[in-house]
Amino acid sequence: MKKLTARSLICLFLAMLLALGTALFVFRWFREGSSWVSFSANDHLYSNGVLKSGTILDRNSVILAEAGESGWSFHENSTVRQANLHATGDGQGKIGTGATNAFAGKLSGYNFLTGARSLFDGGRRIYLTIDSGLNQTAHTAMAGHKGCVAVYNYKTGEILCMVSAPAYDPASPPEISEEDESLKGAYINRFLSASFIPGSTFKLVTCTAALETIEDIQTRSFHCTGSLPLDDFTISCTAPHGELELGKALTVSCNCFFAQLAVEMGPEVMENYVSQAGFLEGYNINGIPTKASSFDFRSGNAGELGWSGVGQGFDLVNPCALMVYAGAIANGGKAAEPQLIAHTNTKDDLRISLYLPQKTKQLISADTAGQLQQMMKDNVTNNYGAENFPGMRVGAKSGTAQDGGENDNAWFLGFVEDEAHPLAFVVFLEGGGFGSSAAGSVASQVLQAAIRAGY
Ligand SMILES: [Zn+2]
Repeated sequence: MKKLTARSLICLFLAMLLALGTALFVFRWFREGSSWVSFSANDHLYSNGVLKSGTILDRNSVILAEAGESGWSFHENSTVRQANLHATGDGQGKIGTGATNAFAGKLSGYNFLTGARSLFDGGRRIYLTIDSGLNQTAHTAMAGHKGCVAVYNYKTGEILCMVSAPAYDPASPPEISEEDESLKGAYINRFLSASFIPGSTFKLVTCTAALETIEDIQTRSFHCTGSLPLDDFTISCTAPHGELELGKALTVSCNCFFAQLAVEMGPEVMENYVSQAGFLEGYNINGIPTKASSFDFRSGNAGELGWSGVGQGFDLVNPCALMVYAGAIANGGKAAEPQLIAHTNTKDDLRISLYLPQKTKQLISADTAGQLQQMMKDNVTNNYGAENFPGMRVGAKSGTAQDGGENDNAWFLGFVEDEAHPLAFVVFLEGGGFGSSAAGSVASQVLQAAIRAGY
């Protein structure tokens, strides 16, 4: 009898194990089926590792890439191909975040219920949120600089412009060697998958922390002599700024002012605020993870903490996270999460997916967002020049970041304040020099084109 009970217990255990295994398989099949199907060894879908079906279009139905028996074919114009390289992807799968690679499962038309049947009738048509013409404007405006430009609608999350450089022509891909400086990092989309020293754009975060944790911050005044000794470091400004309060310090971008605020607030407060700003997690853009930003406010001395408070030191920030942060400032502290797929259609152009906007968590309190919004608009009026942004109400913060290279890196970050054109943007130019002039001019050209196009 005892033996019988033991046997039936073993049987019961094995049956449970089988049920559990089956459930796990069905769950993984449901969740990961499309990536299993799009595995490049699947020769129903691929010939020599290249997808055989599927079309990638921009939001205005411009065909950017089409898969066929002989591989991917791209838009007929070389400039369009290069400007849209990192959004569209390449034919060899080297640009991991490009649509040809990252959306292969969706292009195949695989779904849990019907499997990959749509493959045999030409796959799916994926409409990106991108405007390929706007990408061309950005690509031209970057004038050969490495870096990235992006614009998105902070209410819907649609990424309208996303350009990374260096780029190349995917119709005749070059062999890129280790020593080739001009094409170094060409496979990386700098907007999604890289992080850089943010320079003074980071003062927005230090400013947020100060507004919320230092009681008398609004009435406090500070005298900038042009340099501030902190431990064995000297924080320096481009010139002595003299008597300052918070708003003016942000407009003239006073390093000494924000460095001493970071030291006063300490590492824990700075950590809380980069976390609240959403920098530490990164975003998931239709399955593409963006690179998380990174900071180290603790391991250095007060001088290093001071430099971290002005966006130098150990700060490394992802451009996409900065753009969303600018959107949140313009939108009461929360913005829409960025997205790249507008919708998916069948081969016969029947729409089969909905676009659903999703909001970020509260990145900044609504009150503080309102104050920052005003300060960033003042920056444009009092410093960058409203006439440089004709016909728009823009709020912005520039940055000039030193990373040891020959020339400084230029940043320009901000938003358009207009119910009809809710746009946030980021421009980053490696070796671009002074932030507001180099990157500011690129931002202005792209924003003007975006508004002309009705976004
Ligand atoms: Zn100063």
